[in-house]
Amino acid sequence: MRVVSGIQPTGNLHLGNYLGAIRNWVRMQDEITADGDDRAQLAGGGSAPKNQCLFFLADLHAISQPHVPAELHRGSLEMTAALVACGIDPMRSILFNQAQVPQHAELQWLLSGTARMGWLNRMTQWKDKAGKNREGQSVALFSYPVLQAADVLLYQATHVPVGEDQKQHLELARDIAQKFNNDFASEGAPVFTLPEPFIPPVAARIMSLRDGTAKMSKSDPSDLSRINLSDDPDTVMRKIKKAKTDPEPLPGELAGLADRPEALNLVTIYAAVADRSAEDVLGEFAGQGFGAFKPALGDLLVETLRPISRRFTELLEDRESLDAILATGAARARTLAGPTLDSVYRALGLVRA
Ligand code: ATP
Ligand code: MG
Repeated sequence: MRVVSGIQPTGNLHLGNYLGAIRNWVRMQDEITADGDDRAQLAGGGSAPKNQCLFFLADLHAISQPHVPAELHRGSLEMTAALVACGIDPMRSILFNQAQVPQHAELQWLLSGTARMGWLNRMTQWKDKAGKNREGQSVALFSYPVLQAADVLLYQATHVPVGEDQKQHLELARDIAQKFNNDFASEGAPVFTLPEPFIPPVAARIMSLRDGTAKMSKSDPSDLSRINLSDDPDTVMRKIKKAKTDPEPLPGELAGLADRPEALNLVTIYAAVADRSAEDVLGEFAGQGFGAFKPALGDLLVETLRPISRRFTELLEDRESLDAILATGAARARTLAGPTLDSVYRALGLVRA
């Protein structure tokens, strides 16, 4: 099983990013590579492990829309630090950024000969993002799904985790692979593995601490609205203490929180962090007010986040380690990508001395 998954390299990471995205990767890594890691292969012996996770920063995708270069740069380093601090093991998984593996862009071009305009025109994400102004969009926004296809086909991924919004893009990757395999073959053999989708476990959706109807987000101007991965224990406690709530005690059942979005959010956070169901948490705290619940939630968050924020901050100040992590990951990714790209060139009849 070879799993490939990417994430946009954003900075200012918060609890929502951790519980909604990063933690899923860590769990995936821990489940999929439970039976061993790449250390033997890295040391020069042994063959490629049976189960592998490749996680990449989709920095090439980030330039498909207007962006601030300095923010992309900082965001990439922050995301790398956050992933490692949260538990992605750069020895066990292959962690890298697209920009250091030129084969992604290379394969995208080679697949552009196979992808059809009609297929891309039907992508709902393109339609949504372009809106009425198609003429004014970058070519990259249009061909984005071809780069996504290259991202997974390059490594002969067997499985790709996809949320509802990305299902169509994986279908497209399969269509491109299938057409390429039909039209061309490398020494009689099909070039690409058709990747299967798998739906990751539903991640928690975390809301703002100031407004239970708005998503916790890095773009909220109020820092009190979110818990940042870099917040120290005092800050975490203070933010939870100040979080908006209501004067009612907690109910025994989830239905009792239906029109209490702030209360529901704090219970959701507790449940997600403790890895328990919201019902279970309510079972424990039913009848208690926020005077009791908030300190318990604060303690739980501090305990969970302390090692993460410490490692995150350390890594952010250690540019050399971050560079080394990404360079090692990229070197391993390039090694895996090489043979695929060789057979693509060969299948297409391109001469390479
Ligand atoms: P922005 O406000 O700029 O959209 P953001 O805080 O929403 O930023 P993104 O960079 O858009 O963060 O998202 C990164 C990842 O984190 C995505 O996988 C997204 O689904 C997830 N994520 C973001 N916010 C939350 C949240 N509040 N709860 C759960 N998951 C979240
Ligand atoms: Mg967002």
